[in-house]
Amino acid sequence: MFLLFALAVIFLLLLSVISLAGCGSQQWNRIETTPVANAQYDFKPAPKTVPTATVPAASEATGQKQQDELLATYSLDSQFSYLTTVASSTYQGRRTGSAGARAAAAYISSEFSKLGLEPWSAAGLTTYLQHFTASGLESDNVVGILPGSAANGSYVIIGSHYDHLGLDSSGRPFNGADDDAAGVAAVLEMARIFQQTGVKPADTIVFCAFSGEEEGELGSAALGQLLVDTGISKNVEMINIDGIGATGGGYFGVWDEGAANAAPLLQTLQQAGQALGVPVKAEGTDIGSDAQSFDWQYSIPAVTVDWSWGQDAGAWHPYYHTIYDTPEKIDQTVLAEATKVALLGLWLRANP
Ligand SMILES: [Zn+2]
Repeated sequence: MFLLFALAVIFLLLLSVISLAGCGSQQWNRIETTPVANAQYDFKPAPKTVPTATVPAASEATGQKQQDELLATYSLDSQFSYLTTVASSTYQGRRTGSAGARAAAAYISSEFSKLGLEPWSAAGLTTYLQHFTASGLESDNVVGILPGSAANGSYVIIGSHYDHLGLDSSGRPFNGADDDAAGVAAVLEMARIFQQTGVKPADTIVFCAFSGEEEGELGSAALGQLLVDTGISKNVEMINIDGIGATGGGYFGVWDEGAANAAPLLQTLQQAGQALGVPVKAEGTDIGSDAQSFDWQYSIPAVTVDWSWGQDAGAWHPYYHTIYDTPEKIDQTVLAEATKVALLGLWLRANP
């Protein structure tokens, strides 16, 4: 009996020695593979196994390279060409429900097709056009997606509005170059950049040109409703571009419409501005653009971005809602800077 007890004690002692040796051995390995910054230790051979935590993650390095590639592929000439087309008098001021607006939607759709975008099938769309009726007007949003590599069911919308004010009482068109052909051109240019580079975001990017904005954000309300109806509204956020091309002012404005859940979008855009050396200012609630529908009606995080609207709209956007808002009034430097901040913000949001 005692002999058995003594044997058991010896056995247990042996076990604990082995396990202590195990602990020590692990600790030794950890010390051995920790990189030494101090030069006096440089004689040590480099560890064969480098701890993964000290190496920049492959995805991070790739992400930076892709980000640089996207920004380097931006072309002002290309964006301005889209802008002059959308602002062309051919479209008769693009009033919601008019033949001119339908022709503008057809042009944007044809570009989406050339740029390889797909209809947003998860939102129940089989073409680029989302037809809606609101306030007695029939019109279409133009919507196309670049599917994300993560296939995670998360979406970031980059939006703008293609509709404008139609014709004045003398039959002259409101070209709406700053309001908002510039934003539509930014959306098209971003889609072109993704196509040319072949860079794929993790989340799906949704490229969107709304109608009905000038009539009270009707198109964005119709899309928000569709996202609620199809059960995907909780996985969506939006950056809406409106008014990024007027001369003057000194900063990129972000309007969160007072929505607390839009704070991450604001922070990301501030980060993008910092990276590009462009001042970004939080503005609060604007006089009305498509982020409001998303934030207020559907609690979908959304911001509207612009160029210095909050500073003094009358001074910085002197041609606002006049027939003189034409492409030659666009400040191309501002247009390019604002578009790049929005592009970088979009890329960062789509790669969480
Ligand atoms: Zn307007």
